[in-house]
Amino acid sequence: MSLDSESTLVFHTMEEIDQTYARLTKTFQSGATRPLEYRRRQLLQLARMIQDNHTAFEDALIADLNKPRVETTVSEVSHLVTAVLYAVANFEEWALPQPCETKEAWRSSWGATLYKEPKGVVLIISPWNYPLVLTINPLIGAIAAGCPAVLKPSELVPTFTQLLADLFPRYLDPDAYAVVKGGVPETTHALDLRWDHIFYTGNSRVGRIVATAAGKHLTPVTLELGGKSPAVIADDCDFDIAARRVLYGKIQNAGQLCVAPDYALVLRDKVDAFVESLRKAHDEFWPEGDHPLTGSVPISNIVNPRHHARLVDLLNRTKGKVVLGGEIHKDKSISPTILTGVPEDDVLMDEENFAPFLPIVAVDDMDHAMRIVNSKHIPLVIYLFTNQEELKDKFLERTRSGQLVLNDTIMQLVVHEMPFGGQGESGYGMWFGKTTFDVFTHFRGVINVPTAHEPFFQSRYRPYTQDKYEWACGPSRAKIPEA
Ligand code: NAD
Repeated sequence: MSLDSESTLVFHTMEEIDQTYARLTKTFQSGATRPLEYRRRQLLQLARMIQDNHTAFEDALIADLNKPRVETTVSEVSHLVTAVLYAVANFEEWALPQPCETKEAWRSSWGATLYKEPKGVVLIISPWNYPLVLTINPLIGAIAAGCPAVLKPSELVPTFTQLLADLFPRYLDPDAYAVVKGGVPETTHALDLRWDHIFYTGNSRVGRIVATAAGKHLTPVTLELGGKSPAVIADDCDFDIAARRVLYGKIQNAGQLCVAPDYALVLRDKVDAFVESLRKAHDEFWPEGDHPLTGSVPISNIVNPRHHARLVDLLNRTKGKVVLGGEIHKDKSISPTILTGVPEDDVLMDEENFAPFLPIVAVDDMDHAMRIVNSKHIPLVIYLFTNQEELKDKFLERTRSGQLVLNDTIMQLVVHEMPFGGQGESGYGMWFGKTTFDVFTHFRGVINVPTAHEPFFQSRYRPYTQDKYEWACGPSRAKIPEA
């Protein structure tokens, strides 16, 4: 084992990673993780692990991120208990063989069926910002699908990672589910191994590294990445409600959330009114005597001094004007910060901010807003605040994003049944609920061609004749409908 230089987390050695991989591979080959009863027991144990250690998880995330207990409870612990129980209630149905949508004859007499087979041993690599939910949620799908899994949480949340590593063997089958503690060299080593699926959540730079490593083994990958998700404020919406909802989405974990509204696009003559509404919402969240940095429940910390310095640098370089917040707690946190007069080519409009900053860019009209959105990489989500049906349709038709959320922020995450995922720079592959089960499942098609059908096959066999050629041409001459 080796020590992480930034913390006291003891990393696994390369030999230990290899041993874990070998152990889990053997388990998969034995078939132990396949029976539905086994999967059910492990899922229930996972639910128990989260429930029994609710406070321990909160404490760990306070130690690593100073994340408020309410935020850990809502978005990690409660979310996960719901997600596991949802999987427990449904996975047996998800795992049922499924008749293939095909010609009646092939379904009934050939029995064309899709069998749901576990892909094999999978690797789940997760980031520091929502470390519990982003590690365990994919695992729910892996267990439900019958796959052993290695989890590689982020080294930037050492207290959490150590806790998870300690809890796992107490609740789950250690021959099938393991936590690997490590940083870049350990993850690089793990990526050299042949996995049956890799599920990566994090930034797109590392996403490229993961996809390249997976490519060497032709391993399928899910990439859950980030991006600049805009909040577009049309003039017909209720500004007070829109501002409260945008600020709510912005301050979760101090803006270190993949689906946080990254910037706002507001009609030029409405910017002042929207800022006023944001100010009102801010004062509701932190009433007289309370403060985001020094109050009784401060906003989360910026994950580490390196990221903190990056954000302070952005604040120093922006051409925008801070109209609210902008207070800096050295090396730790930054208060929710609203900026106006932000040019389209500002530093805050470059990369994902991943910060408690809301730069507001003034637009001439909604077409201008769409042009700005479309000039950037495809975001994970677009938040549009309007009640105009025509405008909603315009955004649906003329923009691209992982999701489109109307009139709120981040609530797409509670819809377990709705597949979640990005496009382009915000990632590929979908997950959530049954879709996560599908991620780790191979849909194995099976047909059984009766020997009694032999007389129908005479035309396919040699010797090839003109008659047989004419028969073969039949489908190619099918009538193509007029437009
Ligand atoms: P991070 O630094 O913790 O990295 C994520 C994982 O990648 C960690 O486990 C880390 O050990 C590993 N890693 C880092 N460098 C590596 C390398 N060179 N080779 C191999 N592995 C490496 O987290 P992060 O990337 O800063 O996470 C924040 C990003 O994740 C943001 O862009 C955010 O938008 C995105 N994100 C996306 C989602 C989503 O669901 N789409 C959810 C959360 C976060």
